[in-house]
Amino acid sequence: MKPNSHTAFQPRGSEVIVEADYVVVGSGAGGAAAAVTLARGGATVIVVEAGPWRDPHDYAHSTYGALRDMMDDWGATITRGPALWPVVQARVVGGTTVINSAICVRTPSDIFDEWQRNFGIGDGGGGQFAERLWRWQDQLETELCVAETGPEAMGRSNELALKGDAAAGYDGHVIRRYAKGCIGSGQCLQGCTEMKKQSTNLNYIPETLRRGGGILSCAAAERILFEGARAIGVTGHFNHPQTRARGAAFTARARRGVFVAASATWSPVLLRKSGLTHKAVGANFRAHPGTGVFGLYDEPVDMNRGVTQGWASTRFRKDGGLKLETLSIPMEMAISRLAGGGRVLMERIQQYRHIAMWVHALRARTAGRVDVSFTGRPVVRYGLDVEDMRRFRDGMLRVAQLHFAAGAREVVTGIHGLPYSLRPDQLDVIANAPLDPRSYVAILSHLFGGCVMGKDASVSVCDAEGRVHGRTGLYIADASMLPDNIGVNPQHTIMAMAMEVATGALK
Ligand SMILES: Cc1cc2nc3c(=O)[nH]c(=O)nc-3n(C[C@H](O)[C@H](O)[C@H](O)COP(=O)(O)OP(=O)(O)OC[C@H]3O[C@@H](n4cnc5c(N)ncnc54)[C@H](O)[C@@H]3O)c2cc1C
Ligand code: SF4
Repeated sequence: MKPNSHTAFQPRGSEVIVEADYVVVGSGAGGAAAAVTLARGGATVIVVEAGPWRDPHDYAHSTYGALRDMMDDWGATITRGPALWPVVQARVVGGTTVINSAICVRTPSDIFDEWQRNFGIGDGGGGQFAERLWRWQDQLETELCVAETGPEAMGRSNELALKGDAAAGYDGHVIRRYAKGCIGSGQCLQGCTEMKKQSTNLNYIPETLRRGGGILSCAAAERILFEGARAIGVTGHFNHPQTRARGAAFTARARRGVFVAASATWSPVLLRKSGLTHKAVGANFRAHPGTGVFGLYDEPVDMNRGVTQGWASTRFRKDGGLKLETLSIPMEMAISRLAGGGRVLMERIQQYRHIAMWVHALRARTAGRVDVSFTGRPVVRYGLDVEDMRRFRDGMLRVAQLHFAAGAREVVTGIHGLPYSLRPDQLDVIANAPLDPRSYVAILSHLFGGCVMGKDASVSVCDAEGRVHGRTGLYIADASMLPDNIGVNPQHTIMAMAMEVATGALK
């Protein structure tokens, strides 16, 4: 492969063979941060990415288009457990940073204490490990233009949340995001056509190429290659970006090491398919399951105008494990949450302009597992226990209370078996809602674990420097290495960890 090159889909034919110092599998939060750090350290890097390269002017505006062009499995990956909840991740150059809300939260100090206490990682919130990660986060904040959304881009839904917060005392704040001059188009989940959001396809991947690296896109790694215990590359096939038809084979050889950053679901699958059958591979999968509550307001809210997520509260993070946020979704997604048919549904759709959707994400205690299906895809076994469901329901109650504090007339919870909408004097209906997960519409968007780091090699996959136990030249550098969920938006922690791992590898 020539320096600075990009090889996209190759139809069936002769195998594409490339070689560099390091091969990085995945170009999302972890993969891009690792790749650019390696490249800045003077190494040559080839990024292998299953999804296509898409320029922002090619992003679809509709939800359907985003699912088709950017999502893993058209967004159809679901949990196998008591409830079938979607597990949302992107499959595109830039990974999930292309379709996320760009919220930037520094790793809380208590997480470092927990990592030290429970997994033998680092030296606590006051230690050097935490200091190093926070320094990476300082750098990320400068390079990725982290800023609070300005009032001009907030939009009414976020303004109403600020109003409700002032009345309810949720100690919330305007969100800081990886966005330069956000104009509040509310399109983050379909990709930012305005190029304001700093997804990794716009910065760290192009920089890696400028520094002499290369990328294979539409190229799904299927196996890591070993010489004895040493990782020496990966092999796989190109996939057509539209039809997903299988194309030519490829091999990316690594002179110094292989980084696995294919996400919390795909990294364990890649390891398993490569013969790493230790029981820790795929174990300790965790998430922040979340759901939205609609508030119906007398005034038009027009949640599709204004920044996708502009307000958050972490007041209930330690006591309850909840993070509350605003989240605007396009009309077609909102409609999928409205019950009924015919004239009733049409009347409810007409209320779209008056709906604000706010959400909670739960730091669930439940752990799941990622297995490999017979077709070689991730099978996510996950379902909340009763205690988590109680806290999940409590999160919905708190969001509903916030809506009423902001002046909502009614709330729509989407909980099966409850009335379609509830008034302020009916909050006890939510407080006593069933605890069966099947009654709730939820999604998993913040994922953790599957290849967790830890000191004890009998229960973890890699150490705190990302080095896979029992192998050489093989590193984990994505959400899959995080040993627990962290109760805040994870991208900043994932990127800082990936930079730390890459720096360690270069020594
Ligand atoms: C809708 C949504 C909104 C979110 N909003 C925020 C937010 O505002 N702030 C925040 O902090 N977090 C947010 N998150 C979470 C955050 O985006 C993820 O935690 C983060 O991107 C995970 O990083 P990663 O590197 O582990 O995986 P990803 O970013 O998902 O990257 C993994 C990459 O690996 C590729 N890949 C997978 N398998 C293979 C293979 N076999 N071969 C080659 N490539 C492969 C994938 O195509 C993908 O590009 C959001 C998530 C979602 C779904
Ligand atoms: S709200 Fe719009 S302009 Fe702002 S980052 Fe998201 S997609 Fe881009």
